[in-house]
Amino acid sequence: MGTYARTPHPSRRSSDLRGGHRPIPSLVQWMVTLDCQLTCPHCLAAGDPVSAMDVEAARALVDQVADAGVEELLLTGGEPLSSPLLPAIVEQIAQRGQAWSLNTARLPTGRIRDVLQRHPPDFVAVSLDGPRRVHDAFRGRIGSFDEALESMRFFRALGSQVAAGTTVTRRNIASLTHTLRIVHDSPAQVWGLHLLVPEGRAADRPDLRLRRRELRRLVRFVEDKRNYVPLEMADELGFCGEREPLLRNLPMTCGAGRMQCVVLPDGEVVPCTTLDRTASAGNVTTRPLLDIWRDGFGALRQRRPEPRCQACDYFAACGGGCWLQTHDQPRCYRDVWERTGQPRAAAGLAVALGLLSASGCSAVQQPAPETDVAAAQDEPPADAETDGHGHGHGHGKPELLVTPAPEPAPDLGPVSVAEAREPLVVSGPRGEEVDLVVELGAIEAVILRLTLDGPSTERVDELQRIRPESHADDPGWVFVESYAAGRLPGDLSERARAVRAALGTSERSLALAALLYRSLAEPLLEGPPPQDRGSVERAEVRATIDALATTVGTWRRDILGSRLDPYLARDREHVPHRFMMLKSMPQPPPELRLAQDTLQERWGHAGQEALDGWLDRHPYADSLTLDIEGPSTPSRLGIHDIVDVGPDGDLGVTVRWEGSEPLDVSLPAGSELTWADVLRLVDEAHRGTLEQKPLESFDQGDPLRLPLRRERFETDWLADFWLF
Ligand code: SF4
Ligand code: SF4
Repeated sequence: MGTYARTPHPSRRSSDLRGGHRPIPSLVQWMVTLDCQLTCPHCLAAGDPVSAMDVEAARALVDQVADAGVEELLLTGGEPLSSPLLPAIVEQIAQRGQAWSLNTARLPTGRIRDVLQRHPPDFVAVSLDGPRRVHDAFRGRIGSFDEALESMRFFRALGSQVAAGTTVTRRNIASLTHTLRIVHDSPAQVWGLHLLVPEGRAADRPDLRLRRRELRRLVRFVEDKRNYVPLEMADELGFCGEREPLLRNLPMTCGAGRMQCVVLPDGEVVPCTTLDRTASAGNVTTRPLLDIWRDGFGALRQRRPEPRCQACDYFAACGGGCWLQTHDQPRCYRDVWERTGQPRAAAGLAVALGLLSASGCSAVQQPAPETDVAAAQDEPPADAETDGHGHGHGHGKPELLVTPAPEPAPDLGPVSVAEAREPLVVSGPRGEEVDLVVELGAIEAVILRLTLDGPSTERVDELQRIRPESHADDPGWVFVESYAAGRLPGDLSERARAVRAALGTSERSLALAALLYRSLAEPLLEGPPPQDRGSVERAEVRATIDALATTVGTWRRDILGSRLDPYLARDREHVPHRFMMLKSMPQPPPELRLAQDTLQERWGHAGQEALDGWLDRHPYADSLTLDIEGPSTPSRLGIHDIVDVGPDGDLGVTVRWEGSEPLDVSLPAGSELTWADVLRLVDEAHRGTLEQKPLESFDQGDPLRLPLRRERFETDWLADFWLF
């Protein structure tokens, strides 16, 4: 499988990225063995047995890597723990002081366990396919789920940074929300989501590959959940255009043959994790690694755009996507991440086309490329998606108002959710502290737990432990504590006022925003019907929705603005670098500044204007937007919109979500309807139809079935709805 995270692009110029290569690979992956006792259907390490190099050759390879100054050596497989060479390799790595990392699905035992206890890896990615049943079935062995968690505990106890790695297939995509919970409870500090690569056994399993609609849902999942957990979309999806900053900490860059290479068990050197020996540039048992690196991968380093890519205005930034996914046949995921149907805003173009001047391409808008052949067999090209946001009747589009953001809390440092009291921080080039994972706070950790488990005394205790002393009176924390203790007012007007009061918090958290919206929506879904609301209640609800839209817009602009830093150049000398590209953290690379220059080149000097345009194109919680058709009603209804229904009689409309079958509903005359009210009316009119789809499917993101799911599953199943 491809790398969990990406190797950095340390070269000076962005043009070097596509046409050139590093004099020394940043990352060398070593498939130590293809052996494994498990039988995962997605494993690339399948095929004819390959003879591994002998122990002397293995030690010599470690020496070559260390002598060359490679930043990271990643041991992978197969299952590297199955290799009899591993103890000697690890001993040699330790002797040479080489930074290294490990991919595994097993718990070390026997001699290698002792060796690892003495010389733990800097970073370990442990495979986790989903909940116990899903994981064990996938791995072909009962007990492998428990073993994976035990392995995470083992390596955390040794001080290694631990990630959970999930390859998302059609078999486990429906379990992703449950997997989020498991990862959250596990010792993993980071969660990486991978796509299947058609190699090895997976080459014969097209049934496991995600279809277009599933890929789109996966992209949304990552976007949303990154507000709560350190989660990253791995490289195999390739470049994701304007959605990149929502999916990854740094722009996707394919480093195959230019920043990284892979050594196969017998010493063949290939650009990435493929067993295709026609891609080999030489064998380390007969030629030095650095010579192979210097002279090899010529075609890849001069990678010319496929005919399809030549006509694509993203090529300058995309470079044709993940080599591993595309070298056997053209594949493009543009129709997964691109929003079609609307010309891109100039600011968006600035983000996506930052390289055009360097590459000599033309910035002319081009039609979307053809969907690749394999994908076309899966599913037709992109669904018709439209942009824009609905305007409530007499209540225009909620604007993301730009108001001065509250000062960040001085004593609330960046904290990963998995390790809320122990931030993973390294020193940047100026001695400043740099958080290695998505910046998340203690409040996200508490809210995620509350959303997954529901209010309880235990949660209150946890909250009080985590909450910074100085925030005891902060309105956001006060609200969260009331929620955790089950003390929120049941009366709609009082609840609305409590939500508005919480917006005075000094926290700026999209997790908190989601909890506030959820707290307002609950009495809307469960209380008296909307047409029975009095004028005071209406005014309270409207004022609260407006306040949420305005304040959350401000928070979001601030939060995502900082995430966009690596993408959108700012007029500042140094951009704080969330560096999680190499697995063997924590050393920031010496070329950090150069990498930042490269990013500035790549994404252009777009500044505030680009941020505004970008936010406008990616509205908050847009995966929950409903399409409403009928006379004088908005075409799209977002969570911050309100529909006024005139006094002249009930209004017949159809409501649908993301191309689902339209459902007729009657909006009561004279009412003011929020998004939650519309859900309620649809549910009341169509419960039978809504019950027909299996609730366990990954389509659980369908908001029209939220009232049904609330009734059936309560909090445990609600995470996917309410974490947006
Ligand atoms: S081919 Fe490139 S993008 Fe794909 S996994 Fe390998 S290095 Fe990453
Ligand atoms: S056609 Fe697809 S793969 Fe090629 S450059 Fe455009 S987005 Fe990338």
